[in-house]
Amino acid sequence: MYTSQCVKCVDLCFLKNGIMKIHLSRPDITEKEIEAVCSVLRSPNLSLGPKVPEFEQAAADYVGRKRAVAVNSGTSGLYLCMLASGIAEGDEVITTPFTFIATVNCILMAGATPIFVDIDPDNLNIDPAGIEKKITKKTKAILPVEVFGSPANFDKVCQIAQKHNLPVIEDSCEALGSRLNGKKAGTFGKMSVFGCYPNKQITTGEGGLILTDDDSLADTCISLRNQGRSKQGGWLAHERLGFNFRLSDINCAMGIVQLSRIEEIKAKRSQAAKWYQEILADEKRLVVPAEPAGCDISWFVFVARLTEKYTLQQRNSILEAMLAEGIQVSNYFPPVHLQPFIVDKWGYKKGDFPITEAVSERTIALPFYNNLKKDDVAEVCKQLKKILNKQS
Ligand SMILES: *Cc1c(COP(=O)(O)O)cnc(C)c1O
Repeated sequence: MYTSQCVKCVDLCFLKNGIMKIHLSRPDITEKEIEAVCSVLRSPNLSLGPKVPEFEQAAADYVGRKRAVAVNSGTSGLYLCMLASGIAEGDEVITTPFTFIATVNCILMAGATPIFVDIDPDNLNIDPAGIEKKITKKTKAILPVEVFGSPANFDKVCQIAQKHNLPVIEDSCEALGSRLNGKKAGTFGKMSVFGCYPNKQITTGEGGLILTDDDSLADTCISLRNQGRSKQGGWLAHERLGFNFRLSDINCAMGIVQLSRIEEIKAKRSQAAKWYQEILADEKRLVVPAEPAGCDISWFVFVARLTEKYTLQQRNSILEAMLAEGIQVSNYFPPVHLQPFIVDKWGYKKGDFPITEAVSERTIALPFYNNLKKDDVAEVCKQLKKILNKQS
């Protein structure tokens, strides 16, 4: 059914959503979040009220940065980082092809050119060894991603950026609460962005957060998210081209409670990851994710990989067989450089980033969320082993 590396598997998940026994992702909303949202609904301030700065302060305190700016999605956050950094047409931004499309879209939306560097096969993040040869006079920033929550290599990426006097814009959308050698995700870049979509560690329904220690960049983002208004100016005074990328107080109230639960959330997810690791420990046909040296991972997803001897077609039929069993799995991530509109515009082809492609063709994202039960993990593993047995 699957002829090429594509997103059809995900479409299939949505089609079969109704009969899924174990979902890929589920939000974890308690009475506390519900009460917080209701109390905003009873207040006069549904937007631009007190919950926005409260959420921002809580996020800045938790991550350990001076400023946080709440926006309506991770994608808007990344786009505002591009604009605030002055990235525009003719500029180049170095990034990874093994990521969610938003990482690259924000570069394109700014009119700049994404320059891909293949990944490190050990931890799936951009390979620092490949960055320097891609730096040109046009390079304006490096945009690394903490893929699946792992900040591996981020120290090395920052060293290279510093040597070349380039800002790092950190796509931390998958990594709230992760650390590398004690240093938190979201503190490596000049600016960093977290996502708050329902499958992330914390959610506001839709939403995102920009973090930085630079007041001027934070103030520019605040103006850009609010129709280009200035701090001092009135409602109808616009000092620059802006957007409506605001996050409402309803969303922020939810975010404040979610963030206050981050340690509990991290612990639950790390327990679920441990169950998978234990049950799949002797499974030779899979590469089971583990924490790279120095990393304390706040788990975002749990993506196992088939070993090299499996083909893309085999992986896709395994995904299909899992879906048929009512277990929602996915193919995180198809390579960005092979997405149809990227191929049309930039002419990339299969073989351009071989490590990304080899990894990407073999991923199986397994059901993963805060309240996943041990029995569910056991059932997922049992079905996966059964399907693998039929394959070989
Ligand atoms: C989730 C995510 C984003 C942002 O997604 P939104 O849906 O716009 O919040 C950006 N980059 C990566 C790597 C992500 O996983």
